[in-house]
Amino acid sequence: MNAADAVTDALCELHTRFAGLRDGRLADYIPQLALADPDAFGLALISMDGHRYSAGDVEVPFTVQSVSKPFVYALSLSVVGLDEVGRWVGAEPSGEAFNAISLEPGTGRPANAMVNAGAILTTALVPDTRHAPRFDRILDYLSRFAGRQLDVDEQVYASEALTGDRNRALAYLIRSAGPLPVDPVAAVETYFRQCAVRVTALDLATMAATLANGGVNPVTGDAVVPEPVAAHVLAVMATCGMYDASGDWLLRVGLPAKSGVSGGLIAAGPARFGLATYSPLLNPAGTSVRGHLALGALSERFGLHLMHNP
Ligand code: GLN
Repeated sequence: MNAADAVTDALCELHTRFAGLRDGRLADYIPQLALADPDAFGLALISMDGHRYSAGDVEVPFTVQSVSKPFVYALSLSVVGLDEVGRWVGAEPSGEAFNAISLEPGTGRPANAMVNAGAILTTALVPDTRHAPRFDRILDYLSRFAGRQLDVDEQVYASEALTGDRNRALAYLIRSAGPLPVDPVAAVETYFRQCAVRVTALDLATMAATLANGGVNPVTGDAVVPEPVAAHVLAVMATCGMYDASGDWLLRVGLPAKSGVSGGLIAAGPARFGLATYSPLLNPAGTSVRGHLALGALSERFGLHLMHNP
């Protein structure tokens, strides 16, 4: 069997192995997310030569939610620079849930750009330009990472905007903590819209592959962000991408990753591949149960752990 067939075979085998598993719960604090099909399950991998491998529901649309965070972080790093972003958002694992109402003691910054507090501030750091308001720039970047024009699921957006007071509270907390060059309270509504951008597992795998490929989309050839930015984002995904389960994830799976409450999950093998899964049944940390198991099994099977010495 050649290497390409081995990848497709592995994805199909994992799909078969975990498709029947019904553990976990649909997110329901954003009411529209509770309407997802609990049986949906897809796995996709994009290689650095842009080849697509997939199994299951890889073209089913769902909202990107927190998987948007590393990409908007990449945008703010590209526009504002690492040092300036770092003045306002930390790069330390928080050891807390994604929606924790907390800031770093001492600095008053959000701990990192992967938790909600840091993501709201990261979004706020993307400035409007004369030609493009902040959200249009974000949508354009997410689309370039995915290699196609993405759009917004207006129903999910409206649902989160109606119920998003915890994130609004976080925005006010951030603003109260000290002088900022931007207004997180205004930006939290943009953050809701960014979370409601519609993607598929194939899109997310392409987005992850773009980070793995030094910021160049391996399918379209588009240089979306500079290589150092891609490396910085992968570093923060490795330490903080899975929130309070980040240490255990790095220990066992060994890849930079990011989860989202609609059931998307990405992982990146630097200079090797981008991976994504979609399955909306979540564990208590807000990570897809089937996705977590499938990526863990894939890492073990192909020795993908970054600390591994083959
Ligand atoms: N939009 C969601 C929120 O802010 C995203 C959370 C997530 O995917 N972990 O609550």
